Amino acid sequence: MTQNSRFNDKVALITGGTSGMGLATARRLLDEGASVVVTGRDRARLDAAAKELDGGDRLLAVRADAASLPDLDALMETVRDRHGRLDAVFANAGIGMFGPAAEMTEADFDHAVDVNFKGVFFTVQKALPLLAADAAVVINASWTMHRGLPIGSVYSATKAAVQSLTRTLAAEFGPKGIRVNSVSPGYIDTPMFRGAVPEDETDALRAQVASGRIGTSEELAGVVAFLASADAGYVNGQDLIVDGGLVAAVAGPYRLATAQD
Ligand code: NAP
Repeated sequence: MTQNSRFNDKVALITGGTSGMGLATARRLLDEGASVVVTGRDRARLDAAAKELDGGDRLLAVRADAASLPDLDALMETVRDRHGRLDAVFANAGIGMFGPAAEMTEADFDHAVDVNFKGVFFTVQKALPLLAADAAVVINASWTMHRGLPIGSVYSATKAAVQSLTRTLAAEFGPKGIRVNSVSPGYIDTPMFRGAVPEDETDALRAQVASGRIGTSEELAGVVAFLASADAGYVNGQDLIVDGGLVAAVAGPYRLATAQD
């Protein structure tokens, strides 16, 4: 529980709020005073998340597939009826799609693009009429758009697409007072990460990170809360990499040859 109340009387929408970073961000924003709407594809998972979050009448858990435009329309209608506006949107819902480029099928490609790019685009577009004058949008991208990751061809490209979207929408919505930024998580310990990385490979990944560890959903949630808050009131069109230095730094012991060698 933080003592912060930056989100008192604010309303936040978090897509993909049933697990991982979306769930942690919902918890963080509730702790900071927000009313929160979370989404997911499965009623039972939504009910479990709602129970865990224990947000009382400040929490609403809505079934909505981010890749379905009718679902998004119905979601925004529900938000309008309940709250009448949105002060923050975390377009977080996403799926992993990893494998050699040679093995990616058209169905893999379409599924990843549908959720990770089309889903984010239409979430923000359909939220727009509800966005308050000083609202903030945060999009969940990925470190994989900053470096070439073998097995990441389609996934990384969907994330590059939403970063481009971040910049364009920052320019387009900026005059309205609405800010649009993205976060690029590195290796974050979530169900998606655990599903994609065999346990015996975790140490090798950890060794790639300058900070020497895998990040937590709570650490990412803190950054999303910052970007969504007035503390980041002059931050717009940016991507904030939250990866313990994975992208920026060479990790581990590193020894240059010297004149004595
Ligand atoms: P996660 O634990 O698997 O959570 C993903 C969330 O998205 C779940 O709540 C899931 O809900 C929801 N979701 C998936 N497809 C959806 C859809 N079509 N419509 C609505 N909700 C959907 O994963 P995570 O690691 O927290 O990932 C969150 C975001 O971070 C993703 O965009 C991911 O690409 C990105 N990311 C993750 C990592 C990492 O290391 N974990 C690194 C970089 C970027 P239901 O399953 O209940 O529907």
